[in-house]
Amino acid sequence: MTNAPIRKVLIVGGGTAGWMTAAALSKVLGRQVEVTLVESEQIGTVGVGEATIPPILTFNAMLGIDERDFMRATKATFKLGIEFRGWTDPGDRYIHPFGTFGLDIEAIKFHQIWLKFRDQVGPIETFNLAAVAALTGRMALPDPDPAKVLSSLKYAFHFDAGLYARYLRRFSEARGATRVEGKVADVTLRGEDGFIQSVTLDDGRVLEADLFIDCTGFRALLIGEALGGTYHDWSHWLPNDRAVALPCATGGDGMTPYTRATAQKAGWTWRIPLQHRTGNGYVYSSAHIGDDEALATLMAGLDGPAQAEPNFLRFTAGRRDRAWIKNCVAIGLSSGFLEPLESTSIHLIQAGITKLLSLFPDQSFNPLEIDQYNRLTAQQVDLVRDFIILHYKATARADTPYWDYVRTMEIPESLQRKIDLFAGRGRLFQSDYDLFAEPSWIAVLLGQGIVPRQYDALVDSLPEGDIVQRLKRMSALIAQTAAALPSHQAFTARYCAADAAPANATSGVPA
Ligand SMILES: Cc1cc2nc3c(=O)[nH]c(=O)nc-3n(C[C@H](O)[C@H](O)[C@H](O)COP(=O)(O)OP(=O)(O)OC[C@H]3O[C@@H](n4cnc5c(N)ncnc54)[C@H](O)[C@@H]3O)c2cc1C
Repeated sequence: MTNAPIRKVLIVGGGTAGWMTAAALSKVLGRQVEVTLVESEQIGTVGVGEATIPPILTFNAMLGIDERDFMRATKATFKLGIEFRGWTDPGDRYIHPFGTFGLDIEAIKFHQIWLKFRDQVGPIETFNLAAVAALTGRMALPDPDPAKVLSSLKYAFHFDAGLYARYLRRFSEARGATRVEGKVADVTLRGEDGFIQSVTLDDGRVLEADLFIDCTGFRALLIGEALGGTYHDWSHWLPNDRAVALPCATGGDGMTPYTRATAQKAGWTWRIPLQHRTGNGYVYSSAHIGDDEALATLMAGLDGPAQAEPNFLRFTAGRRDRAWIKNCVAIGLSSGFLEPLESTSIHLIQAGITKLLSLFPDQSFNPLEIDQYNRLTAQQVDLVRDFIILHYKATARADTPYWDYVRTMEIPESLQRKIDLFAGRGRLFQSDYDLFAEPSWIAVLLGQGIVPRQYDALVDSLPEGDIVQRLKRMSALIAQTAAALPSHQAFTARYCAADAAPANATSGVPA
C-alpha cells in the first residue's frame, strides 16, 4: 500500500448511478484522474427513476449545468411535492410538499401554533406555498429576495430517466471520461489483499483501475458477487418487492407539478407527468397480488393510451452492510434500494458521490476513512427507511391483508420513538444526516392521521386573537402569491419546452 494518488477509476454500469458518478468525477477530478465507464447495451438499465427531490439542484449547480438546457434535454417538468391518495382511508388525500409550513412566532414552532388554532385557520397545507401552487397547477421560479413569499418555493424535477443518462454521458465525455461498451464477465481479485485488480469483458478485454465504482444496479457485480458484501433485507418492514412501469400519453389531470402516489390493494401506483408523456407504475408485494392483477390495475388507471410494453422489475428492500469495501464503492441500486415512494434513490446516489468526493482515497485506502463513509451511508439510509415505513405503519386501512400486515407490523425502535414523541405533544427532533427535515415529517405524520394529543404549552403565552389574525394573513398571502403565478404548463413551455432550440449551441451539453 502506498500513499500514491488514485490515477484510474473504473465505473462499472451506465445507468443513472453510473453516469451521475462519471459526470461528477470528470467535472471535479477530471485533470488528475482517468475516468472510464463500462456498460452493456445488451443488459440495459432499469429505465425508471423519474422523480427527484430539491437537493438535485445542488448536484446540477456542482456540475455547472444550465437548468433550462437540462430540462429541455430530459423533457423535464417541475415537481413541488407528492400527493398521497388513499393512504389513510380509501377516500383520503394529503400532500407532502417541498419547503416549510408558515413561520415560527417568537421562537415557537409554527406547527405547534397551528395545532392550537387549526379549527380556526384551516389545513396546514394552506401554509406552504409549494402545496398551494401544486394543487392549483401553478409554477414559477423562487424569488431571490428573501422578503418575498415566493422565495420560499422549493422545487425538483420529473424527467425521462433514459434521456437523463444520455445527457450526463455527453457531459462526462465532453470532460474526458471514456465509455467502453462491453459486458463484464469476470472480476479478478489481487492475491495479497483481495482488492479488485481488474474486470474482464466477455470478449477478453481486461480493464484495470485503482478504484472501482459498482454501478451495476441490482446485480451488484463487484460489491456483492465479487467481494461478498452482505445485504440487510428489510422486506419485513417494506414488503413491496415488484414493480411494473408503463408510460402513457398525457391526459387526465394533465401536467400536474407534483407526483401522485395512490394507495392500492397491495401497494401503490405512481403518476409522473413529463413534457412528452406520463410515467406510471405499480409498486406491489408479490405475496399479496400477482403480476397480471397488478398490471390490470395499473392499466385501468392510465390517463391515456399506453406508449410501451410493461416493464416488470423485482427487488428486495434493504441496503448493503458496507457500501465501500476495499477499493470498491457501490453507488446506486447496487448499494441498496428502498422503493421509490419518496423519490429518494437518485438523491442517495448524489449523497454517495458527495461523500466519495469528500473522502476521496489515495492508494493506501485508509480504513478509517472507508469506515466513516460506511457509517454515514448507513445513517442516511436508515433514516430514509424509517420515513418510508411511516407511510405504511400509520394508516387506518384494514381493507386488505396487505394493509392489515403493514398497519400491525413491528417497526424499528427509532421510528416508534419518533411517532410516540410526535403523537404526544407534536415534538420532533431532527437527526443529523436526516434527508427529510421537520416539515417533511410533519406533512407525513399529520397526513397519515397522527395528530398530537396536545400542543406545546409555550403556545399559550401568545395572544390568541392576534395570532389567529396573523395566521389568516399568512395563508391569504400564500394563496395570493400562488394565484398570481402562471400555470405549470405555460411556465414550462416558456422556460424549457423540449422542442425549443437549446439555449447553447452544444444541444444540451453544458459548457
Ligand atoms: C420501480 C422503480 C421506480 C423508481 N422510481 C424512482 C424515482 O421516482 N426517483 C428516484 O430517485 N429513484 C427511483 N428509482 C430508483 C432509480 O431508478 C435508480 O436509483 C437509478 O435508476 C439508478 O439505477 P442504477 O444506475 O443503480 O442501475 P441500473 O439502471 O440498473 O444500471 C445498471 C447498469 O449496469 C450495467 N451492467 C450490469 N451488469 C453489467 C455487466 N455484467 N457488464 C457491464 N455492464 C453491466 C447495465 O448495463 C446498466 O448500464 C426507482 C426504481 C425502481 C425499481
